[in-house]
Amino acid sequence: MNRMPLDGLSRDEILATLDAYQANDLDRQSEKAFGYTYDAGLAHKRLAADAYSLFLGKNGLDPTFFPSLLRLENEVVAIGLGLLGGDDETCGSFTSGGTESIMLAVKAARDFMRQARRVRRPQMILPQTAHAAFHKAGHYLDVEVVATPVDPTTFRADVAAVRRAIGPETILIVGSAPSYAHGVVDPIRELGEVALEHDLLLHVDACIGGFLLPYLRRLGAAVGDFDLSVPGVTSISVDLHKYAYAPKGASLVLYRRRVLRRSQFYACARWTGYSVLNPTVQSTKSGGPLAAAWAALHAVGDAGYMQLAGTLLAARRRLVAGIGQIDGLRVLGEPDASLLAFTSNGVDPFVLADEMVLRGWYVQPQLAFGPSPANLHLTLTPASAGLAGAFLSDLAIALDAARAAGPSCIAPVAAGFDLAALSGADLGSLFAALGMDGAALPARMAPVHGIMNGLDPAATEALLLEYLDRAYSLRAAAPTG
Ligand SMILES: *Cc1c(COP(=O)(O)O)cnc(C)c1O
Repeated sequence: MNRMPLDGLSRDEILATLDAYQANDLDRQSEKAFGYTYDAGLAHKRLAADAYSLFLGKNGLDPTFFPSLLRLENEVVAIGLGLLGGDDETCGSFTSGGTESIMLAVKAARDFMRQARRVRRPQMILPQTAHAAFHKAGHYLDVEVVATPVDPTTFRADVAAVRRAIGPETILIVGSAPSYAHGVVDPIRELGEVALEHDLLLHVDACIGGFLLPYLRRLGAAVGDFDLSVPGVTSISVDLHKYAYAPKGASLVLYRRRVLRRSQFYACARWTGYSVLNPTVQSTKSGGPLAAAWAALHAVGDAGYMQLAGTLLAARRRLVAGIGQIDGLRVLGEPDASLLAFTSNGVDPFVLADEMVLRGWYVQPQLAFGPSPANLHLTLTPASAGLAGAFLSDLAIALDAARAAGPSCIAPVAAGFDLAALSGADLGSLFAALGMDGAALPARMAPVHGIMNGLDPAATEALLLEYLDRAYSLRAAAPTG
């Protein structure tokens, strides 16, 4: 439907159409999806949805008119601080997601250091494994990224390299707890020492691990110190829409001191309308995500999170051991949480991913970067944990099929294109050669991933942006897949 109906449709028609649209969405089979979804069971989902609808129409633009939102946010932030080493001086904000939390932490660091140090051309130090959201923040906020290598076997940040990268314009160091790609926690205590030595800010990206690592620790797993209690850590991000199992649109950015958070806030009284006073990026915003997050925290509770973490820990151990036993597969590094990456020796991992898709599983292809070879990533969820055995047996079968199929034939597709210098017109013909007309992706993605894996990052980014431009320009009915 590309046109607004003249008269409104009936409720039944609308809901039936929406339901038909979502037929091919990943969350329809979330227990077999190792990415994008975080499922803690149906009853919990219903409750969060009810809380969401109850607060959907409230406007977080001005908490003075919606005191319930102010109260909910202060309570949710307090819970986050309680879990992540907060004390009397710590504080935070509720945001729409990890990316917003990270952008705000970088903005706060930039503006704080501009004032405190008169830094003109701010730089932040990012280990190669830091999340793309930091690069995006640098892009939006004009903070230069200084990338540092990571250890080629553990994939943890190289502290000596971070120390060497510090210069007069450095404002911020970043560490992950854990990194998304390999699921390993950086040496945060050592990074904290470096930050203190040089009087710099240190952000810990615990977007995915913040609600999990504290429980894994209590369960006896060896997890390095990573939270606000570590000297030198000045801010931390934790997504509630990941392992706190809140519906999408929920994250926290937490600070050691209020003075740093002040640089995050924004006020504007220089126009003819109402005075703008925004803690975060959005101005008018629904109370739905906040109320739903509050509901999730109170429905699961401390014991519930502990139990869910235990399920994830057992599944991760089983999968790491099981993948290690399959001849030809190798887990990268030693995963600390519920994320892992593995590579295949002598078999194209992207062909293996396609073979898993054929068997109903979603595993996430990761391109080679720095010391990390092309690999497949798994984000475990309580829903997928129960299927670890079935996953491992399908993985062994899929690996044999991928070995028999051989590497994806990207050579004929790539022939005739100067991949290093792709221009707009070339990109169009490349898409056609890959069988990608409109937004519909080919059933087998290995050639696409293979090509991107062979390009330098700038060319891959050009290819991705071309796809985005096409996908969001479709006039005809959306593809049904
Ligand atoms: C998911 C994630 C982010 C980004 O969060 P969004 O909610 O997707 O914006 C940042 N860092 C890590 C480690 C993550 O896993």
